Amino acid sequence: MKIFNTLTRKKEEFIPIKPGEVNMYVCGPTVYNYFHIGNGRTFIVFDTVRRYMEYRGYKVNFVQNFTDIDDKMIKKANEEGITVKELGDKFIDEYYKDADALNIERATANPRATEFIDEIIQFVKDLIDKGYAYEVNGDVYFETKKFGQYGKLSGQNLEDLQAGVRIDVDERKKDPIDFAIWKNQKPGEPAWESPWGMGRPGWHIECSCMAYKLLGETIDIHAGGYDLIFPHHENEIAQSECRTGKPFAKYWMHSAFLNINNQKMSKSLNNFFTARDILKKYDSDVIRLFMLSGHYRTQLNFSEELLESTKAGLERLYNAIGNLENLLDEVKEEKIKENEKDYIKKIDEYRDKYIEKMDDDFNTADAIAVIFDMVRDINTNIDADSSKELIKHSLDLIRELGGPLGILQNSVKENLDEEIEKLIEQRQQARKEKNWALADKIRDELKDRGIVLEDTPQGVRWKKVN
Ligand code: AMP
Ligand code: ZN
Repeated sequence: MKIFNTLTRKKEEFIPIKPGEVNMYVCGPTVYNYFHIGNGRTFIVFDTVRRYMEYRGYKVNFVQNFTDIDDKMIKKANEEGITVKELGDKFIDEYYKDADALNIERATANPRATEFIDEIIQFVKDLIDKGYAYEVNGDVYFETKKFGQYGKLSGQNLEDLQAGVRIDVDERKKDPIDFAIWKNQKPGEPAWESPWGMGRPGWHIECSCMAYKLLGETIDIHAGGYDLIFPHHENEIAQSECRTGKPFAKYWMHSAFLNINNQKMSKSLNNFFTARDILKKYDSDVIRLFMLSGHYRTQLNFSEELLESTKAGLERLYNAIGNLENLLDEVKEEKIKENEKDYIKKIDEYRDKYIEKMDDDFNTADAIAVIFDMVRDINTNIDADSSKELIKHSLDLIRELGGPLGILQNSVKENLDEEIEKLIEQRQQARKEKNWALADKIRDELKDRGIVLEDTPQGVRWKKVN
């Protein structure tokens, strides 16, 4: 399996530190609002990376944090007249609702920064003791130039960076590129006791600390959106590597932006749609297929038209699933027939192609094209003369390849059954209320769909006639 490593700017063979296991840390949301589908892209991308690695047999320890203390959190809590803790609790709940609806698997752990204050303080102390950080009036800064490799992730050097930030001179810092790892309390801000007085952690240190605590000194993969390369991840590397003297992460992965009108979707530009709003109109299969239809390192433009065409494409896949489900009910021949054996081999080759694409730095765009090719092939070659075994094999294969992408797991038949049961219930209710017009309308609608109703002593039964 190959992964493009931001650190080396190359596709590299993935070799986990411990065979068979992957320790992965993804920077999660700041929980002061509902997340938008730009954030959603990043979450879906790394959920897919994780699912695919599991599909390939790895045990994945997947940690994604919640940033529940920072300037934005404090500002929003003040506006709402609630505590920062209450704000965090609320939007963590809301995060899970939307992430679940997007079929994002729950992480192995979702640490909150405020639950690691003691460990963060220890981290800061260690950096001061080792001479990499200094305190000024309750603030603690990381002394960037002490880390000779600063800039290695974003491909910049210290001189350029120093030149770039000269305007923003802060008297307290030894150097303008030094960054805060502990912040002195300002009036009205939540704070914790520390050797430097009341204060709170900086943003970068929280991720370094939680990754270390939950996954160890050197992790396999550290990931996040492209905007986190600098300064967030650069600073994480500096702090972590100065503290342990070991590499912080072997592979750095960054997903490209979801854009809208060719501009990054973001809260500050106010050009965003929340995941929740989009989920009202499209289900997770449509949204995920759309997000994964481009390579994760390529920017993707969001538009409703694109979602609509994705939806139409997805319907083709689900029609095939529905057909296979129906055929399974209809056909009599159980065992694979002699003349079908070669065909099984042929469709299994689609799995090999899919793996080849996904192994190549998670090329979901090409992997999805393989699924479409396979489904077209299955549509033209499987019919009522096929054996159950072949039909089931095809259906299982479609679902298998959809699995890592988090799509194609629904049953058309079960959904249809549910929908019909609901209509029958509504019809019963209408009859109880003597609303004959509605009852008849529902019966006719069902009839149009080939469903006939029979009243039996056990209640209403339905059957499908062709
Ligand atoms: P935030 O809550 O802003 O810290 O963002 C959470 C995650 O979403 C980070 O990994 C960001 O890099 C990522 N992100 C933010 N905006 C976008 C976007 N428009 N497209 C893709 N990822 C994004
Ligand atoms: Zn982070």
